[in-house]
Amino acid sequence: DKSLVWFRRDLRSTDHAALYYALSQSRQVWCAFVFDTDILDALKQQGVRRDRRIDFILDSVAELDAALRAAGGGLIVLHDAAARAIPALAAELGVQAVFANADYEPDAVARDRAVAQTLQDDAILFLSCKDQVIFEKDEVLTQSARPFSVFTPYKNAWMAKLAAAGGDFYLKAYPVDKYHASLARPPAQLHRAPPKLEQLGFEKSNLHELKIPTGMSGADALLDDFLSRIGAYGSARDYPAVKGPSYLSVHLRFGTVSIRSLARTAMQAMHSGHGGAGAATWLSELTWRDFYFMILHHHPRVAGQAFKPEYDAIKWEDDQQAQADFAAWCEGRTGYPLVDAAMLQINQTGYMHNRLRMVVASFLTKDLGIDWRWGEKYFAIHLNDFDLSANNGGWQWAASSGCDAQPYFRIFNPVTQSEKFDPDGKFIRRYLPQLARLPAKRIHAPWTATPEELRQAGVALDDNYPRPIVDHAQARARTLERYAVVKKAD
Ligand code: FAD
Repeated sequence: DKSLVWFRRDLRSTDHAALYYALSQSRQVWCAFVFDTDILDALKQQGVRRDRRIDFILDSVAELDAALRAAGGGLIVLHDAAARAIPALAAELGVQAVFANADYEPDAVARDRAVAQTLQDDAILFLSCKDQVIFEKDEVLTQSARPFSVFTPYKNAWMAKLAAAGGDFYLKAYPVDKYHASLARPPAQLHRAPPKLEQLGFEKSNLHELKIPTGMSGADALLDDFLSRIGAYGSARDYPAVKGPSYLSVHLRFGTVSIRSLARTAMQAMHSGHGGAGAATWLSELTWRDFYFMILHHHPRVAGQAFKPEYDAIKWEDDQQAQADFAAWCEGRTGYPLVDAAMLQINQTGYMHNRLRMVVASFLTKDLGIDWRWGEKYFAIHLNDFDLSANNGGWQWAASSGCDAQPYFRIFNPVTQSEKFDPDGKFIRRYLPQLARLPAKRIHAPWTATPEELRQAGVALDDNYPRPIVDHAQARARTLERYAVVKKAD
């Protein structure tokens, strides 16, 4: 009759599966969050001193604690190795069960297995609930009961399953509020103030300067704003200079918003006649998210290896030149303005527009011939919304080794992508002010400008902006050769 809810990447107090199941099945429920030293130490070992995600979590945890207190409970916040701290806390509180929402990343799966084992030794149950996705693991399969490896048929089956259940069966909110009476106040000795950033061993990031809204209230504000323009999503989403997408990814990452509420909202917009087409496209993006979680569940080896194993035969560049090229890519000094502006966007804000993620990933793998794992790792450190499944899926898609029906010769041209998706150079001008005065017809490839045009715009190649570090046509030819090993393996 006593339970503990362990919050991880689900920092909200409403429509929360684990909280609902615990409250509706127990008389007394405590809530806890652990700043896991296993995760924080790994970040520190990679040299990270400031991390917007830590600031985001701190804010969101404070808001969650306040919401739980207002409902009669509160959050126990620990700073420890979670695999040890949670069983110890459960024993101290004398609970019979620990509830948590399932996490599908290989490291989290291993951690949860270890926690479940330790709890079992104390005769405490570990109950894992589906919350992060609409459909998980084996819930959407092909007709021959196998996992999908291509998105479109998966999406069709996903939609069909949703429709077959009728109404919003799978999208219903968990009515946590009805059971608030079971929330227990944390015992006095455990209800300390949450650790401060310095105690966690980090310095302040620029999250607040960027005005990135945090917590449940931040997610609500972003969603409200997005709903006023959801109808335009389909056409606006590809242009990085336009406010097209929802910017909700960091909230989905940390669970400050429920995926069910977003899918429900999208469905309502689709059926209301207001912004229906945009909402349908957006729902399909949310389905991509489920898709990559499902892929990671069935193929945990993609964390490290190609989804299509024959692509592991590719020999990537890794000499000194490649190291230098990689540094130029990371720092936004490739000489291709759209690529550089995109890398400055991630470095300065922790966000990168979806179109640009595809452009820079293609550039790294197919123009520089560098292993997609190097880029994946860079994104994992820098993205506020970093999610192993979507990030790995995106990188493998760009490297052609992933779940994609397209053959490998899809190689983005960084200049034509720029002309198409940032036609006036508005996005480029925002991040590369030294190019701001170039005319639109030159800004995508400054090296093609005449000396007079460059002089007038105040651009000095090699001085305030680099020449391209690679020739796209030559790189393309080298990539086709490099990828030929895949064809031979077929
Ligand atoms: P919106 O356009 O408003 O989309 C709404 C939501 O749908 C997103 O928040 C996200 O949860 C989901 N979504 C959209 N596109 C995708 C996609 N292709 N795959 C999976 N889910 C999707 N997304 C992450 O959440 N974390 C990552 O680490 C990540 N890494 C990526 C790396 C590469 C190389 C690429 C090409 C894509 C990556 N994406 C990742 C997917 C996508 O770029 C982001 O989800 C999106 O840009 C987030 O912005 P938004 O919330 O404004 O998106």
